[in-house]
Amino acid sequence: MNENKLKTKETLIEKIKGNKKYVIIVAIIILLLTGISYLLIAPKIELKGEKEITLEYPNKYKEPGYTAKTLTSNITSKVKTTGKVNNKKIGEYKITYEIKNLFLTQKITRIVKIIDKGKPELTLKGEENPKVCPGKEYEEEGYQAIDNYDGDLTEKVKVTKETENWTYTVQDSSNNKIEKTRNFTYIDDNKPTIELTNPTTMTITEGNPYKEPGYKANDQCDGDITNKVTTTGNINTNTPGTYELTCTVTDAAGNKTEVKRKIIVQKKKTYSNGSGVIYLTFDDGPQSGSTDKILNVLKEEGVKATFFVTCKGPDYLIQREYREGHAIALHTATHNYATVYASADSYFNDLNKVSSRVKNLTGVDSKIIRFPGGSSNTVSRRYQPGIMTYLTKEVLNRGYHYFDWNVDADDAVGCVKSASPSCVYNNVTKRLRKNRNNIVLMHDVKPYTADALRDIIRYAKNNGYTFKKIDMSTPMVHEKVAN
Ligand code: ZN
Repeated sequence: MNENKLKTKETLIEKIKGNKKYVIIVAIIILLLTGISYLLIAPKIELKGEKEITLEYPNKYKEPGYTAKTLTSNITSKVKTTGKVNNKKIGEYKITYEIKNLFLTQKITRIVKIIDKGKPELTLKGEENPKVCPGKEYEEEGYQAIDNYDGDLTEKVKVTKETENWTYTVQDSSNNKIEKTRNFTYIDDNKPTIELTNPTTMTITEGNPYKEPGYKANDQCDGDITNKVTTTGNINTNTPGTYELTCTVTDAAGNKTEVKRKIIVQKKKTYSNGSGVIYLTFDDGPQSGSTDKILNVLKEEGVKATFFVTCKGPDYLIQREYREGHAIALHTATHNYATVYASADSYFNDLNKVSSRVKNLTGVDSKIIRFPGGSSNTVSRRYQPGIMTYLTKEVLNRGYHYFDWNVDADDAVGCVKSASPSCVYNNVTKRLRKNRNNIVLMHDVKPYTADALRDIIRYAKNNGYTFKKIDMSTPMVHEKVAN
C-alpha cells in the first residue's frame, strides 16, 4: 500500500466522522416527514353494524354501510368491496372492504352468516287422532312435510308404528327437527250403510208381483255385509195402498242400520164410460128353459152375446140365437173329452159335426171355436198327451179363431153346489176390468146363470161397460197351453 492511498482513506474516514451528526439529523428529518405524511394520508375504514352478522333465512342481508377517511378528508367513495352474500343459500360469506390512498392501503372484512333455524312444517292429513276398526291397522291418510329452506321433505318423513300411535319425524338439512303423533282409539262406532237400488219408492199396479230391486250394505269396518241384511214387511199387491219394506243390518260391533223402502200399490187405471167391453159367452148349450130365459133377458136388455154350441138341445134355439143377432160359435158336437181329445182327427170330426149343424140351421160357416175345457185343460192328457199343443196351432192353420176367457163365472164348477145366481153374479162382477176386453165364460145350460144374467148386465151398464159379440176381428184371448 502506498502512503498516498493510505492518506486518502484516512481523510475519507475523517470526513465521514465529521458528517455523522449530519446523517443522524437527516434521518430524523426523514422519519419525521414520513410520520407526518402518514398521519396526513393514511386511510381508515370504519364499518357500520357488526363485523359478524348472523341472519336467519329467509331474511335478506342488507349492507349496513361504512365510512373511509383520512385525517383530512372523507374518501368513502373510494372503498372497493368484494364478496357477495347469496341470500338464498345458507352459509358463511366474507365481504372485504379495501381502501387505497397513494401508497397506503387498508383492508377489513365482515362475516355474514345465513342460517336456517326454522323447523319444517309437518301436516297430518285426515284425523290426527283417528278411530280405527278393532283388529285392523290404521290406514294412512297421508302427510306432508314442507321446509322453508329445503322445500318438500315428505319423502324423508320417518313413521314409527306402534299399536297405540304412529310417530312422524322429519328434519331439515340444518337438523331442525319436528315430530307429530297420531294416537289411535280402536273402536267401531259407525253404523253400516244400506243403499237401496233405485227407485227407493216403488210404484206397482195392483195385481202385479212385487220385485225387489235389491240393496247393498256396507260397513266401514266389516266391508260388504249385504248378505246380513234382513227384510221385513208385508206387501199385498192385490190391495192398493202404501206399504213399507224395512231392510235391517247389524255390523260385528252391534251398530244397526234400518232403511225403509216405500211401495205404493196403485189402483188399476179405470177408463171413462164405454171403454170396458164385455163379451158374454155361453157354452155347452143350447138347452130348453135356461137358453130360452137367457135369450129373453138379452133381448130385453138389448145385449148381443156369443153362444159356443154343441149338437145337443133343440134346433130352434140355435135358430133363435142367430135370428136375434147373437154370434153362433162352435164348442164341439159331443163335448165328450174321451172322444174329442182321442186324437186330432177325432177332434176335427167332432168339430165338423157341430159346424154342419150350425151351417144347416143358420147358413153360417162359423170359424169361431172354443175347446171343451179351454186350451189350457189338462184333462186331455189322459187321452192324448200333447194334443192341445198340436190342436191350438192346427186350428189356427185351418183358419179358426179360438177363444179362451179372462172372466170366469165359475158356474160349471164353483157355483154348482150352491146353484145360486149371486155366486155367478159375484164372480163375474168382481173379475171385470175396464182396461181390456172381458171375455166372460158362462154356461147357458145352468138355470142359476140365466137367473143371474139380468143383474150382471145392469151392473155392467151402470159401471160404463159395453157389450159386443165375438167376430173374426175380435182379438183372441188365449190361456197357456198345459198339454
Ligand atoms: Zn164346455
